[in-house]
Amino acid sequence: MIEREQLEMDVVFVGAGPANLAAALHLKKKIAEHDEFVEKGMKPGRIIGDLEIAIVEKGPFVGAHILSGAVMDPIAIRELMPDFLEQGCPVDSAVTSDAFWYMTESRAINAPIVPPPLKNKGKYIVSLSKICEWLAEKCEEAGINIFPEFPASEVLYDEHDRVIGIRTGDKGIDKEGRSKGNYEPGVDLLAKMTVLGEGSRGSLAKHLMQRLGLMEGKEPQVFSLGVKELWEVPAGNFDEGKVVHTLGFPSDTDTYGGGWIYGMKNNIVSIGYVTGLDYKDPNIDPHAEFQKFKTHPKIAEILQGGKMLKYGAKTINTSGFWTMPRLYSDGVLIIGDSASFLNGQRIKGIHTAMKSGMLAAETIVSAFEHQDFTSAVLKHIEEKVHLSWIYDELHPVRNFHASFQSGRWSALINTGLQFVTGGLAWGFMPKEHHVAGYERMEKLESYQNDGTRYENVKFDKSLTFDKVTDVFHAGVAHDEDQPSHLHVLDTEICATRCAEEYGNPCQRFCPAAVYEMEFNPKTDRKELKVNFSNCVHCKTCDIADPYQIINWVTPEGGGGPNYKGM
Ligand code: SF4
Repeated sequence: MIEREQLEMDVVFVGAGPANLAAALHLKKKIAEHDEFVEKGMKPGRIIGDLEIAIVEKGPFVGAHILSGAVMDPIAIRELMPDFLEQGCPVDSAVTSDAFWYMTESRAINAPIVPPPLKNKGKYIVSLSKICEWLAEKCEEAGINIFPEFPASEVLYDEHDRVIGIRTGDKGIDKEGRSKGNYEPGVDLLAKMTVLGEGSRGSLAKHLMQRLGLMEGKEPQVFSLGVKELWEVPAGNFDEGKVVHTLGFPSDTDTYGGGWIYGMKNNIVSIGYVTGLDYKDPNIDPHAEFQKFKTHPKIAEILQGGKMLKYGAKTINTSGFWTMPRLYSDGVLIIGDSASFLNGQRIKGIHTAMKSGMLAAETIVSAFEHQDFTSAVLKHIEEKVHLSWIYDELHPVRNFHASFQSGRWSALINTGLQFVTGGLAWGFMPKEHHVAGYERMEKLESYQNDGTRYENVKFDKSLTFDKVTDVFHAGVAHDEDQPSHLHVLDTEICATRCAEEYGNPCQRFCPAAVYEMEFNPKTDRKELKVNFSNCVHCKTCDIADPYQIINWVTPEGGGGPNYKGM
């Protein structure tokens, strides 16, 4: 029996992303306001007092595992901190111009009118990693405990399935599962309230939703993978403050996808490509789609003479409103991207994540005020979401992603109709509405790989990069002498059924060359090799595997990419 230290907290937030950092700060502020009103007799009720609040983060520092495009709508951060700019919030550049390009193989057709959801003037191009680092400083100034290198490995429940906190991962276990000299058992952080804001496909949120049935009556969450590079380009190649979104090349019309190019300070360009993880063709490789995007003459011209500085990849939850889980259960709330708060049409989720965190904070204040941490009080988070601007923003685009599951052309017609009808979907929708991405992948026999899809992508290490080179630019580090955090539940399927039916798509959908089918002379067949130390924590494998036998769990604390400044 392992003896574990127990720490008693009032509130534990899992993940130091925008949702939880905003939630923790707002919670501090709202408790102070509440207590002041009660003290002055302006409000009935009890004094809550100082709460012990902790944020646990798997990365070595806040921001290390944070990746986004990113153009931030400041609506939420302005509510959180009206003087966020005066307080030094490290936004990069204000957006000065917008464009929308439809890409054919050789041309970029500049749309005369930028679709309203993609208008970004008044918003900010940011490094979300830097914003989170800064918000974490604000949290610490407010007395909130932040524990980096503390991956939450499991949710703790009592005998009635009430959430009572989380356990952090053990340290110092070797790859055979034996304790090393530096062994330290994980700690049990017991809390009256636990908040999961782990980002897209949170590993604890996934477990919680399954165990407590939080997705019952909801549609399945559908994800996309964003692959990004930061480039330094010669002055004059791309203006600071310019924002371009693209549709078309290189995605086929059955595949949801699009690109972005954002001009940052000092001739830095954020460039990336999003591929829906509900694609049908098992030959698709989202990393290669991005590399192919850069070979387009218009994009290659922007990057001409430049240098790639950093690389990253991260899934986003693009399905939105219909796929939000129940946001509460006894002792727990789920917020941010883990709970489908991203607006897939605007490809923006920082503001909705922060706002969901702020609404969670207000719900938690009520829970402490009434000393009731059950669903009876926590259910009010859903009412708050419905009465907030989140509902006004997400409800009209509730059918956006599902439209794309019928292909690009019907999606464009449908999106136009939704725009004028407040989101009604007419006639061009797939019958099943949102379908989980892994269920849509078709067998290889329907998509004979003639090798032409990526034939023009040369991986010349100048414009285009292979996965291993890109991973080097993600600053990934994991101690190799630890158990793999990628649990493949049945590798026999990989060597047999998957090889035959799908051609082992994990080798393609993973943007970090983690999965490899390697010939084993003893068995005379190819078998799965998992290079887990390359993993950039994007969660694609957990989402896209057609047999759903890959389970991503947290590795030892501190391991993973280094997205500082991304
Ligand atoms: Fe992403 Fe999975 Fe590859 Fe890690 S192993 S980089 S989570 S697809």
